[in-house]
Amino acid sequence: MKALVYLGPGKRVLEDKPMPTIHEPTDAIVKITHTTICGTDLHIMKGDVSTVTDGRTLGHEGVGVVEVVGSSVSNFRAGDKVLISCISSCGKCDYCRRGMYSHCGDGGWILGNTIDGTQAEYVRIPHADTSLYHVPDGADEEAFVMLSDILPTGFECGVLNGQIKPGDTVAIIGAGPIGLATLLTAQFYSPAEVIVVDTDSNRLEVARKFGATSLVHGNAVDEIMKLTQGKGVDVAIEAVGAPNTFDICQSIVAAGGHIANVGVHGKSVELHLEKLWSSNVTITTRLVDTVSTSMLLKTVQTGKLDPRQLITHHFTLNEIMKAYDTFGNAAQEKALKVILTN
Ligand SMILES: [Zn+2]
Ligand SMILES: [Zn+2]
Repeated sequence: MKALVYLGPGKRVLEDKPMPTIHEPTDAIVKITHTTICGTDLHIMKGDVSTVTDGRTLGHEGVGVVEVVGSSVSNFRAGDKVLISCISSCGKCDYCRRGMYSHCGDGGWILGNTIDGTQAEYVRIPHADTSLYHVPDGADEEAFVMLSDILPTGFECGVLNGQIKPGDTVAIIGAGPIGLATLLTAQFYSPAEVIVVDTDSNRLEVARKFGATSLVHGNAVDEIMKLTQGKGVDVAIEAVGAPNTFDICQSIVAAGGHIANVGVHGKSVELHLEKLWSSNVTITTRLVDTVSTSMLLKTVQTGKLDPRQLITHHFTLNEIMKAYDTFGNAAQEKALKVILTN
């Protein structure tokens, strides 16, 4: 079968690999019908993620059809249409019992990281009963791919951790797929104002369509303080993963506010506790647990949430090398999410 394989920093190839097989009775093999490329995959390609070794099939998002299940899988059978969660969970360990699937002792983010992932014709899914979701008949399968990672990530790490309430003033720093997924799901809580910051005008225009009330292109701190009459924002969401964007968040958070970090950071940031210690602020970090997937799935199914708007490009799995080039040049290509169909 065809698979997109990482061969060390900067090197990837679409090659033939053996079909995955059942290793444990809790496994399922899924034939991928739609997958995508994540910003995290670009980090892996740069060599930023040391747990990914040469020869690994990348990808942790996708929708497919169950090909075969292990003997102890009870919730899925061959032929079922399924959504694959980016987080695998055993459902039994201490962390899983607390709903913190991201830190599952035998799971977490392993797909396309420590085991072969979804950018292939077939994938092995461990703990299938607690790591797959049924896709209802008639569902928009491409839109459902957004439920594997970006919607739960934006919602759990940004909206829930940021404790967005009706009437709040929210700033989202970064209008990539994750920042826009945060913007979409923030609307559940009716914030009064959502200010979106990015350097890419195309992404800001998309943010406007998704309900941003103000767009900030340049001098983010000055602009936001002006927009909030010097008070700052109730919730500042970091959706980039860089020292300067974290710094914007700590400069614009109002007293009593929340800074919710969503971005993946590779470098240390300067924390200005000398300014923040008396401000009653909270700072949160989180790896997505995907505890909200079932709820989000219902909102996508009924059209309350329309993540299809995030899809800008379509390719076949055979064109995945080109798809990586397109997604890697997101600004020029005006790319958000690319869909790969098998
Ligand atoms: Zn991802
Ligand atoms: Zn577990």
